[in-house]
Amino acid sequence: MNSCTPTTRNGSRPFDEEYARLAAQKELGRRDLVKLLSASTPEQIEAVRAEAERVLLAHCGDGVFLRGLVEASNACACDCLYCGIRKSNRDVNRYTLSLEDILACARQCADYGYGSMVIQSGERADKKFVDLVAEAVARIKTETRTDKQPDGLGITLCIGQQSYETYKRLYDAGAHRYLLRIETTNPALFAKIHPADQTFESRVACLKMLRDIGYQVGTGVMIGLPGQTLEDLADDILFFSKMDIDMIGMGPFIPHPDTPLWGEPVADVPARVQLALLMIAATRLKLRDVNIASTTALQALDPVGREKGLKFGANVIMPQMSPTDVRADYQLYPGKPCLDENAKECQSCLNMRIEFAGRKIGLYAWGDSQHAVKRLKSDEQPD
Ligand code: SAM
Repeated sequence: MNSCTPTTRNGSRPFDEEYARLAAQKELGRRDLVKLLSASTPEQIEAVRAEAERVLLAHCGDGVFLRGLVEASNACACDCLYCGIRKSNRDVNRYTLSLEDILACARQCADYGYGSMVIQSGERADKKFVDLVAEAVARIKTETRTDKQPDGLGITLCIGQQSYETYKRLYDAGAHRYLLRIETTNPALFAKIHPADQTFESRVACLKMLRDIGYQVGTGVMIGLPGQTLEDLADDILFFSKMDIDMIGMGPFIPHPDTPLWGEPVADVPARVQLALLMIAATRLKLRDVNIASTTALQALDPVGREKGLKFGANVIMPQMSPTDVRADYQLYPGKPCLDENAKECQSCLNMRIEFAGRKIGLYAWGDSQHAVKRLKSDEQPD
């Protein structure tokens, strides 16, 4: 039997021995990551997937944590060349949810037992919006306390680049996690997909500020961008590791017709979904104990994309909680799923999907990443 012979373990699917050995290596360098990401036969892909799932279960357990996603505003001061709600897109009907709307979504998350919520928006640093988010965070913390969750919902923010003072104010109000995607760590590619005044360096500086303040920090990238290579993606994973990131949110790039990147060559949909799944697996294999989200963009390209994400090493899902009447106005890319399902329908559909993937739903818990839990514990140890 040569090293690449497909084989089976206890009646499981055939897998490739060489890829299984590589995936099980303790240390994964750039070349190893590129090779994992280049898995192409069903046996190679299964070897990477199975090891990523094993590592996930060993380091994080079988719980899938839910973060109810509320899209607080689609107004945006940025002009990212890939994003459907970019400032220059005049076809977007701009909205901002009221404080009451946001609180109602939060109460619904608490009622459903979702332990956490994510407040996401276009990039807005204006005082009115920052005041709204600060007030919403403080009120959510007090108004979602229940016997089952005495500390209220966990709150993750995803509202883009802000000043140190704003990040600190929102942290003090009660948000404890922040997601800011780096989008790509290839500086030339970053420059190609952003206007000149949005720089890679300032995004990295924000990630550092967030960690200094005390947030659990998340980042991520888009997968399958025009011109992006497997080496770029391997570097992205090494960046996550170097920055000691706690949580990852990443998904396939989906071209939007009203953006400048529309028409640029990208891989076909099955190839982008496959690469996104391998990226989840390779990130799990390298980082081990972080939280990784199975994102909506995966589901937008593949009806069972999010379940596949769970099987490739993800452990977080963000059910849609925004009011139904604004969902269609928050379209970063075409094909966004769950546009007209209400939150209750989303909830039962998700429960079914998670159980189908053979996993348990982690209710009434913040679901912090094991990586953050360990770091915070070691910070508490006296020298
Ligand atoms: N404005 C905040 C920020 O920049 O962090 C948060 C919202 S932003 C719209 C959320 C994420 O959507 C971005 O970080 C980006 O990765 C993703 N996104 C935007 N356009 C996309 C597209 N066409 N395909 C896939 N993902 C996209």
